[in-house]
Amino acid sequence: MPILKTEAIVLRSYKWSETSNIVTLCSRDFGKLRAVAKGARRSNSRFDNCLNPITQSQILFYSRNSGGLHTLKEASSINYFPNLKQELEKLAYASALCELTEYLTADGQTGSSAYYALYQTLNKMEDSPVEDFKKLLWHFELRMFAVAGYCPQLCECVCCGGSPESLPVSFSLARGGILCEKCEQKDAARRQVHPDTVKFLRMLQNIEIEKVGNIQISPSLEREIKALLEAFWRYHTEEYRKLKSLQVLRQISRNAGT
Ligand SMILES: [Zn+2]
Repeated sequence: MPILKTEAIVLRSYKWSETSNIVTLCSRDFGKLRAVAKGARRSNSRFDNCLNPITQSQILFYSRNSGGLHTLKEASSINYFPNLKQELEKLAYASALCELTEYLTADGQTGSSAYYALYQTLNKMEDSPVEDFKKLLWHFELRMFAVAGYCPQLCECVCCGGSPESLPVSFSLARGGILCEKCEQKDAARRQVHPDTVKFLRMLQNIEIEKVGNIQISPSLEREIKALLEAFWRYHTEEYRKLKSLQVLRQISRNAGT
């Protein structure tokens, strides 16, 4: 078995035996990995806290090509993201990034786009006020939709490819994009959206993460964006509602009355 080295972010860790854990990682060079961390549950484990969820670590592992479990040899932490773990709301957002990444990426899927989207968003959240987190989560979701192969099409009509004459107000959940005036009647799964929502999402698709926090947004636009992204997720996956961190975020948002 070859020994491989990479940087990775821990998405999840769970008990495998009395002394060992299985960790799911989003790695820079080998996509999503599942690996056994032998001895990780012992008090004097060599892995220390490097394998806790929402931790960026340098890892060394024995690779199993068959798609089975890999075996971790060593891990050393790079960033624990301590600020994200100090408040329940921040932790819920960071956990949502990890859960969505785990759900949307396949084992062994190559390419580093998911890793960099997760890494950059966690880093940005670590240094941002919690008020910016929902915009950062939306920005991340749009990037991850693209990684998963269903990036919303927001410029041309997703049905005929034509350019709408006026800004469209229909969005097809099934096809994943806006509809022109001619095509909107053909789509039963369309959803009416405010033109400002389409404008905002277009901007969010193209903006650098550094600038996301500066965007100003009205409460009504915020509600519609949240509802549209959630409807889009739910249309494509039943599992979305089961993601625990998102349930926590919904509860926090209900308690805050937003
Ligand atoms: Zn059309």
